[in-house]
Amino acid sequence: MTHRLHPDALRDAAIRAEICALCSHFYKLGWASGTGGGISIRSGETIWMAPSGVEKEKLAPADLFTVDRDGQVLTHPASDLSLTACAPLFLAAYRHRDAGAVLHSHSLEVILAAALVPPGESLDFTRLEMVKGLEGGAYFGTSTLPVIDNTALEHQLEERLEQAILDHAQASAVVVRNHGIYVWGRDVTQAKTQAECIDWLCSAKVRMHAAGIDHLRHDRSIP
Ligand code: ZN
Repeated sequence: MTHRLHPDALRDAAIRAEICALCSHFYKLGWASGTGGGISIRSGETIWMAPSGVEKEKLAPADLFTVDRDGQVLTHPASDLSLTACAPLFLAAYRHRDAGAVLHSHSLEVILAAALVPPGESLDFTRLEMVKGLEGGAYFGTSTLPVIDNTALEHQLEERLEQAILDHAQASAVVVRNHGIYVWGRDVTQAKTQAECIDWLCSAKVRMHAAGIDHLRHDRSIP
């Protein structure tokens, strides 16, 4: 008789493997070096998250926690690890946006682009092709990402990140000045691709600013 794994066990194994593969990928992009950054995935009422303070490129499937939407730990790794400090921030996006996945990156491109934004203003993108990769994004529209100030400790960001999510109903990410970004999506693919588009847009903004280029100047495309 062939032993078959229960569908829940297969789902659990697949999500754990995907988080480890993506964390390794993000490490190579410079999004998750020095134990920072990472990704969390939700399936139904279960949310998978990494532990705190681990090298993301070395993350193993057995290292992950599962929590419910309230952040109550359902399963924890056998090793002596604590839940990621990003947990309350990931949970805010699950709570208010019904996200299927939430990604946190320490992307330098995002930090540089945010440094161009005066206090109290948002990071805006228009007439750049990758805007179309953002939820609701259109070439002739403007996609707006709120920028919040950083805090001494990651979990202390919760209140201002939550407020930014509530204040910017169209945004699929919140930028944290001098720190990085939280990006969510309906599923892991959308969270990842939106983070990639935002990175491209931030890189374009920073490089054009450095070169003194106004990308709208010669754009003759008509809405
Ligand atoms: Zn961080």
